[in-house]
Amino acid sequence: MTVPKAEKKNIIIIGGGIIGCTTAYYLTRHPSYDPKLHTITLIEATRIAGGASGKAGGLLAIWAYPNNIVPLSFRLHAELAGEHNGEENWGYRRVTCGDLEVEGRDWSDQDLSKGHSLGKRRKGRNEATSGVVRGVPEDLNWILQDQIKGYEEIGNTDATAQVHPYLFTTSMIRLAEERGVKVIFGSVTALSYVSVPGNSHQMTSPPSEYHHSDPPSPTLSSTSQSSTSSSPSRRKGVNGVVYHDSSNKERVLEASHVILAAGPWTAKLYPSAPISGLRAHSVTITPAEPVSAYALFTKITVPPRPRSPLSSPSRSGSRSPMEPVATSASPEIYARANEIYVCSEGDMEVELPATTSEVEVDESRCDELISQVASISDQIRKGIVTRKQACYLPIVNIGGLGPLIGETGVEGLLLASGHSCWGINNAPATGLIISELVFDGTSKSADIRSMDPKRVI
Ligand SMILES: Cc1cc2nc3c(=O)[nH]c(=O)nc-3n(C[C@H](O)[C@H](O)[C@H](O)COP(=O)(O)OP(=O)(O)OC[C@H]3O[C@@H](n4cnc5c(N)ncnc54)[C@H](O)[C@@H]3O)c2cc1C
Repeated sequence: MTVPKAEKKNIIIIGGGIIGCTTAYYLTRHPSYDPKLHTITLIEATRIAGGASGKAGGLLAIWAYPNNIVPLSFRLHAELAGEHNGEENWGYRRVTCGDLEVEGRDWSDQDLSKGHSLGKRRKGRNEATSGVVRGVPEDLNWILQDQIKGYEEIGNTDATAQVHPYLFTTSMIRLAEERGVKVIFGSVTALSYVSVPGNSHQMTSPPSEYHHSDPPSPTLSSTSQSSTSSSPSRRKGVNGVVYHDSSNKERVLEASHVILAAGPWTAKLYPSAPISGLRAHSVTITPAEPVSAYALFTKITVPPRPRSPLSSPSRSGSRSPMEPVATSASPEIYARANEIYVCSEGDMEVELPATTSEVEVDESRCDELISQVASISDQIRKGIVTRKQACYLPIVNIGGLGPLIGETGVEGLLLASGHSCWGINNAPATGLIISELVFDGTSKSADIRSMDPKRVI
């Protein structure tokens, strides 16, 4: 009996964020992956983890969403950390997560009421704890104790963990490269399509028009993908991508499978994907002394105070000694082993720029964040600000949906995008599922019907 020969797969991943890099990793760990037979190429427009994947908080939680992949992903994170010394290499550790209501002691300077929640906080928590001081853990001693108005634990160390997202993402791609993945720095400008026989519902080998030795002569189009069938017996397939390399030269790379993991930029290449971006600012601070391992969803109320001598001029450019009454703010605070990360709510003031390197950082928003958290902690107030940054969260524009993971209806084209505020948590499950779709033709590890891109594109 002859064993059927495995089909060669040329896989292209678009996007070197956490989703693309973790997908590359899991593709190389699939039992059917053979580096002598298959090729995997990741194309990244700017730099690995240059977007949200390098600037996120890194909270992992078994109580995150969607619940069809969260427990799997939470477990995979623990396994990855165990296998590759994640504690040392990307700051994996267990943390306690709580809801904290606190009155700022010091200064504040802005109208803080305009943010768009990033969506991690479970609704109703603050209201439930409002005005009641109970169960504040003893080791949460880096928050000014007499200012705390309420605390409620959301997740203990069995249910909550963290990674440093930049270190995790760059580690994933390094491990994938060790097993044969090639990284190209270049910007994909279009997907290339062909017409393929229409009766296949499986992920397939290259379309019939595809000849490995010839460069594809594709219908180059980034906008005409809405129709997935060109005639009753034919359907659309992807057979490569067009990209501009680092010297801006146009190149074509052929593929049997294209995985679109371009985060908030996904719709630029595939316009019918209902995915956009929401900007959020964050800062990192080296605290005056090491602090205990907590992730805090806060509600900070700050009475009007003189401006902080540390803060820069407000957005209006004014420097008046007294600023308008601040109501409340809800920064998220994540203590890491060597630093404290703080992020703001999202804003819609600036549209998604062309690349991660063109993201506009509004320094006054970072200063607001610093003022807010400095007002509740001496360790922060006396600490050193090490980074002020902004990035875009990839969000699915249809309420309650996201991420979108799976086949698109275009033969060979898979989507792994729209992970909103839980992309760090859900990256390992996403990568594993995509590897199964490519090599097994089906998702074996999770029921992904609710995330099927074909429901919305
Ligand atoms: C402030 C903030 C805090 C967060 N905190 C957490 C958290 O604590 N826990 C959690 O689980 N999640 C968190 N998230 C969410 C998480 O960061 C995102 O869901 C995740 O990073 C999305 O990853 P991605 O790979 O899809 O997108 P991105 O990180 O945006 O990566 C997409 C990549 O694609 C590249 N690209 C785009 N277009 C092209 C092209 N045409 N050609 C080539 N490359 C291209 C980009 O350059 C980019 O590198 C947070 C997000 C924000 C904004």
